[in-house]
Amino acid sequence: MENNVRVRFAPSPTGPLHIGGVRTALFNYLFAKKHGGTFVLRIEDTDQNRFVPGAEDYIVEALEWLGIPFDEGHGKEGPFGPYRQSERKEIYQQYAAELVQKGWAYYAFDTPEALDAHRTDHEARGKTFIYNWHNREKLVNSLTLEPEEVQRRIDAGEAYVVRFKWPVDEVLVLHDLIRGQIRIDANLLDDKILFKSDGMPTYHLANIVDDHLMQISHVIRGEEWLPSLALHVELYKAFGWEPPQFAHLPLILKPTGKGKLSKRDGEKLGFPVFPLSWNESTGYREAGFLPEAVLNFLAMLGWNPGTEQELFSKAELIEAFDLERVQKSGARFDPDKNKWFNHHYLQQKELKDLVTPFRKELEARLGNTDAYPDHVLEQALGMIRERASFLSEACDLALFLFRAPESYEEKAVRKQWKEETPARLEALGALLSAMEDFSSAATEAGVKAWIAESGLSFGQVMPPLRLVLVGALQGPHLFDIMAFIGKEETLNRISHAIATLP
Ligand code: GLU
Repeated sequence: MENNVRVRFAPSPTGPLHIGGVRTALFNYLFAKKHGGTFVLRIEDTDQNRFVPGAEDYIVEALEWLGIPFDEGHGKEGPFGPYRQSERKEIYQQYAAELVQKGWAYYAFDTPEALDAHRTDHEARGKTFIYNWHNREKLVNSLTLEPEEVQRRIDAGEAYVVRFKWPVDEVLVLHDLIRGQIRIDANLLDDKILFKSDGMPTYHLANIVDDHLMQISHVIRGEEWLPSLALHVELYKAFGWEPPQFAHLPLILKPTGKGKLSKRDGEKLGFPVFPLSWNESTGYREAGFLPEAVLNFLAMLGWNPGTEQELFSKAELIEAFDLERVQKSGARFDPDKNKWFNHHYLQQKELKDLVTPFRKELEARLGNTDAYPDHVLEQALGMIRERASFLSEACDLALFLFRAPESYEEKAVRKQWKEETPARLEALGALLSAMEDFSSAATEAGVKAWIAESGLSFGQVMPPLRLVLVGALQGPHLFDIMAFIGKEETLNRISHAIATLP
């Protein structure tokens, strides 16, 4: 198989890419790279009513941000372009005509009103109207009209569609790489429209023609396309083409595990369902997720390596990925787990690669930060980040390193600020003020010796000192904080607390 692997991600630009679509793109990419194959991006924009401006650029930008670049597609022309279906319009008509000519399809002239009337009529009798072998002989199409009449109507510009003609009494045996064998009774299927009155193919025809012409070897797509599989396989048969192999990926389920994950779930529970922001919906990028984290958690949505390993770099994913280990059942979406992945990758990043966005976060809170060179910000972030899953969170937690606390946590004051505390801190201040070397190690040694000499306990000194420096009882190693803010600021914070706390 190796070098002949060609897969495609074929989104319709009808809006932002849902996280499920991104997962489909990722699995295609991983499969292609694993087998030394080609990953194609094809834009399926034949449905002009559903076209949304900006959606195509959004898709491209999202794939770029995530680091899953396509090898062939618009802007990266290969031998099989163009890669936008709207630019391939002329190609499809001849294939629709070929199917009609071979007896696999027919022209249908039924108006939308007439079809509606049939539907209503069937409903009234407790039945469902299906345009297929049941009633195609009674409707207005090239199976019932004389050839001259068909031609007359076409020449007169009457609206028509081309419908697929399902053979009667055929049971199809389909194969899916994830689901195994599937049997379908073709008598239950409707004669799908392949070509529309507006001169455009439907998704089904364009998709099959392009997959064939683009020499796609494996179709990897979401489970929602499984109902179309029978038609697609039958279309290959009708054309006399070798079909690709198919793999339908499992649905992504709500955090409760019940039902498909929707945009509303994200809004209700406060997590993104889009890779990038779209109108008022915040994307993963804007919410502060790192692309490495998104890639990793998406990979685990429906696939597992068969071991306990959860953390994978992109290279490791390519190495380990296998369609055989993609599950059939839906994959539960877990927002907390996604944060966990982000926490991990935030720790992995080189500090120098985070300093610019960190500075931006800091400036949004404190204004100009020119006083702090990059290495100072890196040091601050290095002290804080293990407590944070996001850079913005790290920034909130780091503010006390850049300005004195504006208030002191009430509960902490009640617990730690005793009658004797001001006098003790005063004495400690005097000790610190006399210290030449204000490095973390030096102050730590000095303060510890002083505590021992004064017959005090750690608990009587350290928590109140933390409170006056941080404003709360959390944060990194206390002596690292003092070294970072410096002697003068440490002493200022001590005197300010003594002056203002009761
Ligand atoms: N255009 C379809 C979509 O929007 C493609 C489905 C397929 O991959 O065949 O998802």
